[in-house]
Amino acid sequence: MPSVWIDYDLCDGCTLCIKKCPYGAVELQEGRPRILDNCTCCGLCLEVCKQGALQTDIQQRAIPDFSSWSGIWVFAEQHDGRLADVGLELLGKAREIGDQRSEEVCALLLGNGVEDLAGTLFSYGADRVYLVQDPLLGTYSTEGYTAALARLVDAYQPEILLVGATDLGRDLAPRLARRVGAGLTADCTGLKIDAEEGILLQTRPAFGGNIMATIANRFSRPQMATVRPGVMEKKTGFPSEGVLCREEAGITEQTIRVNRLETRAEEHEPIDLSKARVIVTAGRGAASKEGLALLGELARALDGELAGTRALIEEEWLPPDRQIGQTGQTVRPELYIGCGVSGAVQHRAGMSGSRYVIAVNKDSRAPIFQVADWGLVGDLFQIIPELINTLSDKAPGSSG
Ligand SMILES: Cc1cc2nc3c(=O)[nH]c(=O)nc-3n(C[C@H](O)[C@H](O)[C@H](O)COP(=O)(O)OP(=O)(O)OC[C@H]3O[C@@H](n4cnc5c(N)ncnc54)[C@H](O)[C@@H]3O)c2cc1C
Repeated sequence: MPSVWIDYDLCDGCTLCIKKCPYGAVELQEGRPRILDNCTCCGLCLEVCKQGALQTDIQQRAIPDFSSWSGIWVFAEQHDGRLADVGLELLGKAREIGDQRSEEVCALLLGNGVEDLAGTLFSYGADRVYLVQDPLLGTYSTEGYTAALARLVDAYQPEILLVGATDLGRDLAPRLARRVGAGLTADCTGLKIDAEEGILLQTRPAFGGNIMATIANRFSRPQMATVRPGVMEKKTGFPSEGVLCREEAGITEQTIRVNRLETRAEEHEPIDLSKARVIVTAGRGAASKEGLALLGELARALDGELAGTRALIEEEWLPPDRQIGQTGQTVRPELYIGCGVSGAVQHRAGMSGSRYVIAVNKDSRAPIFQVADWGLVGDLFQIIPELINTLSDKAPGSSG
């Protein structure tokens, strides 16, 4: 078992090690620091000790040579021959990283009869499309897609692999990461390259959204992350031609052990708020029949969508597909109007990409005002009817 100890001949009692230890495992006893039994040997105290008094027999883990791993890959999710937006959004981010790293951006297109989609992937920033077509990939299966993608990863060794954090992506990415021996950071809200080490810094909310954690992977490749729809911006205007590589899936019927008995369409098509240009969000302050009727009217007057905070969804005032936030949808409308929304960090995680934010709240200290371009302090039941009246006065054909 590795350990950490102190050479008291070198220690000058500066106590930096005590301040640095996140576990409270270094304590001052009779004027001298002492290592306690709860020491995890994380090594942080060694980094701050200027005297070299802290010593260890922990072996530094060697960073493998990844110089042969190259390329920024994006899994291009498609359903029935229609590309999911999140793949195109991730291509925009991959393009940015690829240009920085002078590496190729590649899209992974799996399915059956989906070749026509390659042109779209090129025009959203892919240099190369790996096309894997097979009747067994016609409908998604965890095992079939994992095996086909793992084969590509083994053959071409990409540096980075991004997957949309959709239902499908959340099923596929962890299994693929395990299969190829990589790590995975789920639900990232930010991705960038570390200037010094050139590795991917993957930022995501942690501890219930109260902090943003940045995760980096030095020890395995590819660096894998999932990102929720609506978080990254699409970039267009790239040539609609590039390198198309046809690949074998390398799977058989035995690869897929799950039998699909039946596919049923959802009775109620979930709403995709990430496409809305205007969103009126109801918070607990609007949690009543009258409140929702009022905000629904405002949304209609602005040709927008009505959404809610988690408080509203939990109280069943609105269906779950209308929730915005960390555990709901991520949106970036031109205009977001929050009414009776306090602006908790978990809610803001889903709407901070909005172009303009208007907040209506009777509490002037509500955190939503920190991210609002315009704040109206007051009762929404007074303010919103006035707003609706003003809008209808200005509507074409009105006399106002
Ligand atoms: C792990 C985790 C994940 C979460 N994920 C999400 C998420 O995805 N999305 C989300 O929204 N939340 C999420 N939450 C919950 C979040 O922490 C908040 O509890 C929630 O967003 C609060 O909703 P609210 O603003 O509607 O309600 P409140 O915080 O209760 O705020 C109501 C606001 O309405 C104002 N108000 C009241 N009456 C009026 C009136 N007549 N006129 C004007 N203003 C009025 C009040 O001043 C108050 O600011 C999550 C929490 C956790 C722990």
